[in-house]
Order: sequence, then structure tokens, then C-alpha cells
Amino acid sequence: MKITCNIIEDLMQQYVDGVLSDDSRQLVEEHLDGCEECRQKEQQIRSICRELDEGAKAGAVPEARQDYGSLRRFRRWITLRRALTITLSVLVTFCVVVGGVFLMFDLESYMPYQKTGMHVNENGMMFMDEPYYGYRGAYSGIDLNGDMIEIFYMTDTFQKRHLGKPTRGHVVDFGVEDQGTRTNEEGVREKIPPIDKVYYLKEEYVKEKHLMDPFDSHASLIPLDAGKEEELRIINEIENDSILVWERSK
Ligand SMILES: [Zn+2]
Repeated sequence: MKITCNIIEDLMQQYVDGVLSDDSRQLVEEHLDGCEECRQKEQQIRSICRELDEGAKAGAVPEARQDYGSLRRFRRWITLRRALTITLSVLVTFCVVVGGVFLMFDLESYMPYQKTGMHVNENGMMFMDEPYYGYRGAYSGIDLNGDMIEIFYMTDTFQKRHLGKPTRGHVVDFGVEDQGTRTNEEGVREKIPPIDKVYYLKEEYVKEKHLMDPFDSHASLIPLDAGKEEELRIINEIENDSILVWERSK
């Protein structure tokens, strides 16, 4: 480490007071030998201290006391400033570390199909052998063949992957006949048809369509401005490229 004038200045008062350890004293002396500026500072401090000592004996020397007072205030300010800088760095580091750990633990990520340990029984009940974070529906609608299809994927987090416990029991029931109702494009309430086919979406689509991008709130498997024909064409393409996990027996 290079011994700078600043370091020497920090040690100077203790040096003049004669309270430094031998090593530090030697350090200061070696520097003083080669540095005119610091030698002058040393002389200033010594003379202020002498005046103070004499002043103490004689009663009071206001001027010297003032000089010494401002010197001490300056030193205190420097010390305070350093303490603040250190505190701030520690705080920033702390926040970055906590933020990083949080992200690492709770950042949701795509689960490849093989990692899910998923199985769907003939009634459409889906079970998972591995811990997971969430079920993400990507598409639900009628395809080119007139089948009601559901395209989805599962997600996990670092925490779930490494510390989570597998779920007991089933996760979703694709086979349910009564799917409730919805309002169609003409504003009429209609029954949602039961699901005929269920597909697991490949990761390339999740990436390509920004489905897991937390900053893209409009991300969608089908472009929002796509017409009905365009939608069917895209869905047909994705359907052919997805993993069929269940099909209703007819
Ligand atoms: Zn110096």
C-alpha cells in the first residue's frame, strides 16, 4: 500500500501527541523524511499544541484555542464523512445482496416438461411428482379441427426447485365437463365447452412470445391484433409443435 499524505495527516495528531505504536510512528517518520509538505503540517500542529500548553499554564489563549478547535472540528468532519461513506457502501452492498438472493430464490422460471414429473390420468386429472410454483395457461380456445384445446406450461423458482416439497394430490382437472360460462364476442353468455386436448407449451414459444417477461404486460401467445383466421393458423402451428399431455376419449 502506498502511504499518502492523507494517511500521514490522519496519524499526525497522535504522532505529535506521542501515542502511536512503534510501527505507525516509524511509518510517519519515514514519510516526513521525504515530504516537505507534511513536515510543515507537523510543525504547525506542534506549534498549536505548544501554544495550547502554554495557554493552559497561563490561563487561556483564545486565538490558539480557536485554531486548535477548528483543526479538531475539521478532523471530526473528515472522520464523520468517512464513516458516512462506509455506512452507505455497506447499505448499498446489503441491498444488492438481499435483492440478488430474493431474485435467485423467487424468480419464476419455465419448467421443461421432463422436469415436471407430470402425469395425467385418463379422466384428465393432472398430478405432479416435482415441486412447482405455478400453472400458466397460455391459450384456451377452439382449434382448426373444432376441438377445445388448452395450452399451458408449469413454472418453478429456485426455492421450489431446491427446497420445495412435491404436491400430494392432483393439480388441475382438465376433464371437468362443466367449465362455467363466458361472455362471447356478441355479448351473449355461453357455456365454455369442455376441454378436448391439452398441450404442454415448449420453452421456445415462452421465450419468443415474452410470456414470462415481467416487463411485458401485453405478452400473449397470439398477437392481440390478430384476426380469427390468423389466430387459428398460429394456434395450429403451435399445437403441432407442442406436447400432447391429455386427450378426451370419445
Ligand atoms: Zn506528505
